[in-house]
Amino acid sequence: MSKENSSAAEDASSKPVDFIREIVARDVAEGTHGGRVQTRFPPEPNGYLHIGHAKSICLNFGIAQEFGGKCNLRFDDTNPSKEETEYVDSIKDDVRWLGFEWDQECYASDYFEQLYEWAEELIKQGLAYVDSGTLDEIREQRGTVNEPGTPSPYRDRSVEENLDLFRRMKAGEFPNGAHVLRAKIDMAAGNMSLRDPIMYRIMHTPHHRTGDKWCIYPMYDWAHGQSDSIEEVTHSICTLEFEIHRPLYDWYIAQLGIFPSRQYEFARLNLTYTVMSKRRLLELVQGKHVQGWDDPRMPTLAGIRRRGYTPEAIRNFCRTIGVTKYSGTTDLSVLENSLRDDLNTRAERRMAVLNPLKVVITNYPEGESEELDAANHPADESFGKRKVPFGRELYIERDDFMEDPPKKFFRLGPGREVRLRYAYFVRCNEVIKDVDGNVTELHCTYDPETKGGNAPDGRKVKATLHWVPVEQSIAAEVRLYDHLFRVENPSDVPEGGDFKDNLNPDSLQINENARLEPSLGQVNPGDKFQFERLGYFCVDTTSTADKPVFNRAVTLKDTWQKVKSKG
Ligand code: ATP
Ligand code: MG
Repeated sequence: MSKENSSAAEDASSKPVDFIREIVARDVAEGTHGGRVQTRFPPEPNGYLHIGHAKSICLNFGIAQEFGGKCNLRFDDTNPSKEETEYVDSIKDDVRWLGFEWDQECYASDYFEQLYEWAEELIKQGLAYVDSGTLDEIREQRGTVNEPGTPSPYRDRSVEENLDLFRRMKAGEFPNGAHVLRAKIDMAAGNMSLRDPIMYRIMHTPHHRTGDKWCIYPMYDWAHGQSDSIEEVTHSICTLEFEIHRPLYDWYIAQLGIFPSRQYEFARLNLTYTVMSKRRLLELVQGKHVQGWDDPRMPTLAGIRRRGYTPEAIRNFCRTIGVTKYSGTTDLSVLENSLRDDLNTRAERRMAVLNPLKVVITNYPEGESEELDAANHPADESFGKRKVPFGRELYIERDDFMEDPPKKFFRLGPGREVRLRYAYFVRCNEVIKDVDGNVTELHCTYDPETKGGNAPDGRKVKATLHWVPVEQSIAAEVRLYDHLFRVENPSDVPEGGDFKDNLNPDSLQINENARLEPSLGQVNPGDKFQFERLGYFCVDTTSTADKPVFNRAVTLKDTWQKVKSKG
């Protein structure tokens, strides 16, 4: 259980500042476009959204909210071979889940007719031509950064011939690859994207929305700016790799004399220990390296949501990292911290034992038990209290006992006394083992005077352990996750290597022996709790009443781990 979510609009009350917002604020102040702000988030529906997209969503929708503008959700569906309706649906779910609602739901494919007409217009103006060379030939003619390109032998075709060929391309008279339509700009341009870029290619592939209607499809550069213009987007915000395309973006709009959308670029999000490209994520899914797009180890929004991330944590994360023009890589721990910060204030506390070790309280009357009060949140009384049954037989965490404890281990050991959370002091008197010498049970005594966790004589203990009652506790499966990749930058592979070589073979640890306190008996997928001392956990989508399944979303800070790793 966790407290009410806050909305994205509430976030907007504390306005972040960055260079894009400064541009927008100036435009609004100067009355550019009548002071109107229109943005869009333009995913290609060729995969599920990832945390990098969240940065773009928060920026585009956030700016619209803060400046009283609108943001469209536009599917950039110009490449039918990779796109599917499943992806469209997941993208809509994810944007809503993050807390945003779009103004219009748009599809670049809805503009195919208009784009086609504009292409004819450019042909008529002598600004576009049909090239019948092969893609290899066209690539060779492009030149290099240091050498100008060579004009195509088809560059000076007449307007009539170009129109005729282009219409027949559209009519389906030619096979894939027979011709392309190119803009006629400047084969010697310093900016390579201005060297007669391709506008259309022939592709006899059905489209997820237009079916068989089209067999020529627009290229990204031709579709994107014109779609922005059709929607009267004032600020077209994209990632830095499109900076080099901006002159082309401007050129098309200028030649057509259509609504002057402007493009602004910011640095994309990169995170350590993961990859952030739909193509690679698809490879992981198809190769069954993960259990699907929503595998809790995936950086997809579907994956991290199932893992236990909240929209608030992700929006806060996006605000923390800010928006700049400089590429860099953000440490995954920044994302994890934003989740800890959020769940710390909102998640109820519970007790669960992952690797149970049985404790028998030998001086507790047999057949009896009592209900102890436990606060649902240590710092917020409004969360209320619950009852946890305590009796003669309990489970504690196996890791919380050491038969021969080293110096800095303060938990239970032979002859030692510790506090059981919300309960009593207990002392370990006897260690029971099986024939192989494995510890199977501890015999302890409790001090009835210490109920609630304090000794009237003022004596102290150095550790407080979580526990559950044997009889009333619930069996559960708990899944613990580690980084999906073993290295900070999985894309950094030696010659001939593959990013998948860097997958972490131990990224998922399934624990089927966990025991939960009985108040966790009725939970629903998506519910989040702090399991005391273990981390924040979220009920998995596959969880049932008979077989509860929890995902660890993120650990707490573990001081013992730190001590241990320091040696
Ligand atoms: P991918 O390589 O993962 O497929 P993409 O840029 O091709 O990413 P699109 O669907 O075209 O994916 O992206 C939609 C929007 O999200 C674009 O404006 C894009 O710039 C932005 N975006 C994509 N990845 C990131 C990222 N890592 N950080 C910030 N914005 C991103
Ligand atoms: Mg893309």
